[in-house]
Amino acid sequence: MSKPFLPFALPEIGDEEIAEVVDTLKSGWITTGPKARRFEQAFTEFLGDDSLQSIAVNSATAGLHLALEALGIGPGDEVITTTHTFTATAEVVRYLGADVKLVDIDPATLNIDPAAIEAAITPRTKALLPVHYAGLAADMPAILAIARKHGLKVVEDAAHALPTTSAGKLVGTLESDATVFSFYANKTMTTGEGGMLVTRDPELAKRARVMRLHGMSRDAFDRFTATVPSWYYEIVAPGFKYNLTDIAAALGLHQLGRSRGFQQRRAEIAAQYDAAFAGLPLITPSKPQPGDTHAWHLYVLRLQDDLPIARDAFIEALFAAGIGCSVHYIPLHLHPYWRDRYGLRAEDFPHSQRAFERMLSLPIYTRMSDADVQRVVEAVRGALQPR
Ligand SMILES: *Cc1c(COP(=O)(O)O)cnc(C)c1O
Repeated sequence: MSKPFLPFALPEIGDEEIAEVVDTLKSGWITTGPKARRFEQAFTEFLGDDSLQSIAVNSATAGLHLALEALGIGPGDEVITTTHTFTATAEVVRYLGADVKLVDIDPATLNIDPAAIEAAITPRTKALLPVHYAGLAADMPAILAIARKHGLKVVEDAAHALPTTSAGKLVGTLESDATVFSFYANKTMTTGEGGMLVTRDPELAKRARVMRLHGMSRDAFDRFTATVPSWYYEIVAPGFKYNLTDIAAALGLHQLGRSRGFQQRRAEIAAQYDAAFAGLPLITPSKPQPGDTHAWHLYVLRLQDDLPIARDAFIEALFAAGIGCSVHYIPLHLHPYWRDRYGLRAEDFPHSQRAFERMLSLPIYTRMSDADVQRVVEAVRGALQPR
């Protein structure tokens, strides 16, 4: 191999992030404190709507769990989500003893299909949990209309969606009950591990803040920096340990500031791929509505149905050419836990199943040079040649 392996994903951490982390380490306040607060404020400012509250957490999984807990989801309830997602989206429902109703996707966008949502609603349904797959907004106008019609809560899994817009509005500012972003290492911005729960509902925000830190009535930063220092707190519920550290928030402050630039670079790479793959027997990703923003967390390519090349062989050819790629996702209905708990069959999810069998995700990240993008294009062309 003449050229080094091109990984599937790499974070872009700059000198400013590093200096901010060093400053945090030297400051004496390394866990949740002033920088986590600043990060929350900066996040609300980024979304541009001061009726929102941003609550920093140590993962999107934690944020989704807190949002559903605060909405009172529990045993006997059902939450509807897409089978075409990462298990974190659904596992949080099971943490609360509620049940997951998985539904199929729209084969064009690979996002949850509103018609499938409507067909899955039962008297036990309490909430909808759409995912903005790959960074393309789910059909939120339709999903919010279904929720209103049936009196359901909506929590958006926006792990891929910073920044994404739906009908011109940033995901995070829509009319859902809560939206949760991820800052995991391979997401569109990162704090290593981290997430943000955003809501307009003051009661939800209050409950999530308390449950984020052991069910304590006041957090440590509150207690030790109040004008009257106070050791006193009360435990009001058996909460969780989901707070974001200031070390992570230090990264987040600068990553957030760079996130629009990051999005532009990923959009450029997506456009280069689209142009290069036009005319090849490949299905390129669905585009956002005119004027809307795609976060381009993932660039998901599908092999056309009549192409006599298996997806797995295609991925092997790319790896042999030194290109890392992945598959998003092995649908939940194929995993033993979900399949067996709910007796799911592949034929119940024909669009997700077919997409899974023919899809792969190409590298798309800001540290890729144009030459790297070209290398991926050449490798894809090579993998299409019969061997
Ligand atoms: C990454 C991811 C999550 C979980 O994010 P964490 O911050 O790692 O907990 C949830 N849902 C989807 C769709 C994801 O891709």
